[in-house]
Amino acid sequence: MNDNLHQLRCFGCGSRIKGTEAQADFRCAQCGDLFEVEYPGWQQRRGNDRPNPGALKWLWRERRASSEWLDQSGVWRFRELLPILDSFGNAMTLREGNTPLYPLFRNARALGMDQLYAKHQGMNPTGSFKDTGMTAALSVAKERGFEWVACASTGNTSAAMAAYAARAGLRSLVLIPEGKIAWGKLSQAMDYGAVTCQLKTDFDGCLQLLTQIVKESPIYLLNSVNPYRLEGQKTPAFEIAEAFDWNVPDHLIVPGGNLGNSSALGKGFRELHELGLVARMPRISVIQAEGANPLVRSFATSEGMEMAPVEANTRATAIRIGNPASWRKAARVIQETGGWCLDVTEAEIAIAKAEIGAEGLGCEPASAVTLAGLKKLRAQGKIAASESVVLLLTGHTLKDADYTIDFHRGTLLKEEEAAGHAAEISALRRNAVAVDATSAAVLAALKESVG
Ligand SMILES: *Cc1c(COP(=O)(O)O)cnc(C)c1O
Repeated sequence: MNDNLHQLRCFGCGSRIKGTEAQADFRCAQCGDLFEVEYPGWQQRRGNDRPNPGALKWLWRERRASSEWLDQSGVWRFRELLPILDSFGNAMTLREGNTPLYPLFRNARALGMDQLYAKHQGMNPTGSFKDTGMTAALSVAKERGFEWVACASTGNTSAAMAAYAARAGLRSLVLIPEGKIAWGKLSQAMDYGAVTCQLKTDFDGCLQLLTQIVKESPIYLLNSVNPYRLEGQKTPAFEIAEAFDWNVPDHLIVPGGNLGNSSALGKGFRELHELGLVARMPRISVIQAEGANPLVRSFATSEGMEMAPVEANTRATAIRIGNPASWRKAARVIQETGGWCLDVTEAEIAIAKAEIGAEGLGCEPASAVTLAGLKKLRAQGKIAASESVVLLLTGHTLKDADYTIDFHRGTLLKEEEAAGHAAEISALRRNAVAVDATSAAVLAALKESVG
């Protein structure tokens, strides 16, 4: 193992262990908190392991034109900042990352802004940002000789894990909450050959059970408590900084579920800053659904110091999590960057999702909380018209087609949920209409649509 290059540091008590010494559930044996990967070589000012900023920027850009498979990955392209493998030859990649950063022209105009972008992580091989974390952590599992990997999932983690495991020749086990995941995601886990168990419990219950299982059997846990997941998931921060020519945007807005992703992106920007590749960090804000908002409550009652689990409920299934594992890490990111943590309603999520769709991009419901949150932050005067904002779109619109169809048919929201939003909703709805097979009928429908 590359023990000389990386070690694990407990986020709670600060104790340090080697990468190979972690318990099966990735909890600290002393205090029970989660670990973070750290690279001691970077701390030594003239250490040979300390990366050189100018050389790295050049190297990473050059790799975009390379035909080497490792260079073509938007994660391993940055491998100098994630030396977690003994040999990079063990990296298992599906050419994840290198996702597009789209300007959102119409939504920017509606908000009176001129620099609004979407970093679309739904454009990854299995359709969500989970691929960037999975290529990292699954490669570690393979290098360490595991034959089985497992995760508890609201859907996207299982899709990503099953795909990478299949490519690597490993077997995978998925625990999902019965009836509360989107079909598109479940179909992926099946297609990629995972053993899938639907349990009569919620996500938090699935993760609890799996924690017990991995302690009893040689199965490698791939939930975001696994610190190597976060090493892969920090790389979109590098891509964003690179896209802004190493001047970071003023704001990054991220959905919050289990809170691994916001933690990872914060770590990515923190490392760029510490290594001198960028001059500052963006403000990072985390948006939750109103029905699954334990971190929002934590900030409201204790400034992010204490968190009480909630019973989670939202149609944005990817963030339907009541007891987020990485909440302390995410709270630190919000605090250190001066970001905010807020929640949005089911109607606000549905409207924002349709507005992203109307830009020709689309995303899954959980991703749309970012735009809904931005609208609130603009209304509260916390983000100025002149500031640059990147929304992190976490998943692809086809992941949850039922949600989209229900919205456009008008069956998604209950009357009380939609109250106060009728005009916005009717302006966005585009239900399919049944018409006669004549040009006159189609042209009449067209006329009606433009009112
Ligand atoms: C996993 C996921 C999230 C939540 O990310 P966390 O790291 O759990 O906070 C949000 N959106 C989508 C589409 C996801 O798959």
